[in-house]
Amino acid sequence: MSKLVIVGSVAFDAIETPFGKTDKILGGAATYIGLAASQFGVDSAIVSIVGGDFPTEYLDMLKIRGIDLSALEVVKDGKTFFWSGKYHNDMNSRDTLTTELNVLADFEPVIPEHYRDAAVVMLGNLHPLVQLSVIEQMKAPKMIVLDTMNFWMNHTWDELMQVISKVNVMTINDEEARQLTKEYSLVVAAQKIMKMGPEFVVIKKGEHGALLFHKEDIFFAPALPLEEVFDPTGAGDTFAGGFTGYLTKTGDFSFENMKSAIINGSALASFCVEKFGAEKLLELNREALQRRLQQFKNLTQFNIELVSNMP
Ligand code: AMP
Repeated sequence: MSKLVIVGSVAFDAIETPFGKTDKILGGAATYIGLAASQFGVDSAIVSIVGGDFPTEYLDMLKIRGIDLSALEVVKDGKTFFWSGKYHNDMNSRDTLTTELNVLADFEPVIPEHYRDAAVVMLGNLHPLVQLSVIEQMKAPKMIVLDTMNFWMNHTWDELMQVISKVNVMTINDEEARQLTKEYSLVVAAQKIMKMGPEFVVIKKGEHGALLFHKEDIFFAPALPLEEVFDPTGAGDTFAGGFTGYLTKTGDFSFENMKSAIINGSALASFCVEKFGAEKLLELNREALQRRLQQFKNLTQFNIELVSNMP
């Protein structure tokens, strides 16, 4: 079976939204990616690091979903990465209140031998040198997907450019795509990013969906209009987990199949925002995902007759 390597933070998050506030709960980009990808029953491994303060219940929640944690380093006398954020009233923007790197500051990823032949690699948002080290350890991955953020553009531009030149897919949000390319048009921005290396670019637009670019082709997936958005934390990572989980499962990296991967990612992200943190992903099952995929289909399918063909 195809395998998926996931690199990213495993964390404690404390979140404040207009609907409530949490203490330290399970978070981290790799956590969301892993939980989303586990819906596809693929062999996946999280490569990350936590401190001795990380509860074994959290590790068990990931293990029982079939996620391999043999490359999740536990530093007994270290502290787990901690992030806290507060959302504004419109839920579209947030302020980061705290970022304590803790054990993540000295993270040197080691890909386990039995995962070096994985077909798909998901590089979650981390220091570009960590992402590069992962790429170097892999044998011959078919698809390397990169996620990043403005922080690395501001502080480690050259290293980030090196990673971008080595990946097949880059996922990035609209604001960051504009910052990276200094272009306002997302079409022009995506073309510029493709020139930097990736054959595919996914631009995430939050509640306005996501765009997939490949050569001259463009595909748009809406976000499902939801009655309630409770907490958007992790939605981008969940999207990435659904996208890469689906690609790993199907082993088909064509533009056509990437469209389905984007819809699967969007469907999973729509669950993520309905409860605090990863709560909703933890109670999710395939039937619920199946129903939501059908909702996506209904949302976007229509018959149209061209005016010129009308009697
Ligand atoms: P998202 O809402 O998709 O941007 O992802 C939020 C998740 O990313 C949270 O669970 C955080 O723990 C994690 N996170 C936030 N900042 C960082 C960072 N600088 N490095 C790694 N992970 C981070």
